[in-house]
Amino acid sequence: MERRFTEPLRERGVRITPQRAFIWQTLASSDGHFTAEELWERVREILPGLEISTVYRSLEALAGAGLVVESRVGEGPRVFEARSAPHPHLVCEECGNISHLDSAAGGRILEALEAETEGFRTRELHVFATGLCAECLASSEG
Ligand SMILES: [Zn+2]
Ligand SMILES: [Zn+2]
Repeated sequence: MERRFTEPLRERGVRITPQRAFIWQTLASSDGHFTAEELWERVREILPGLEISTVYRSLEALAGAGLVVESRVGEGPRVFEARSAPHPHLVCEECGNISHLDSAAGGRILEALEAETEGFRTRELHVFATGLCAECLASSEG
């Protein structure tokens, strides 16, 4: 395991296990969004016998340390990625691709929502837009 994948865990006080390190490596070496099942499939190639419950517990530990953020995008499964804060998502209804606004625009949306929730303590905030991604839009018009 390369240090660049174990060092962030050590720095955040996450006990390093092979399971956690490989799950973090999978997330950190991609800018994509993964379900727990997808991570399980990938990490099982390296760690046969890995239980999906271990994947969930590892993700909780990584999320608790602020290394991973969990998002819900509609009725689909929860997705995980190597980011530290909740942010809005754009979800394509055609191909399922999940993308991001630029972070300044995302931050403004979240700030506006938080400004309106006085007297309410937000625990989780899931913001997403559904529609067609640029590629699917282009092929539907073609
Ligand atoms: Zn995201
Ligand atoms: Zn699409």
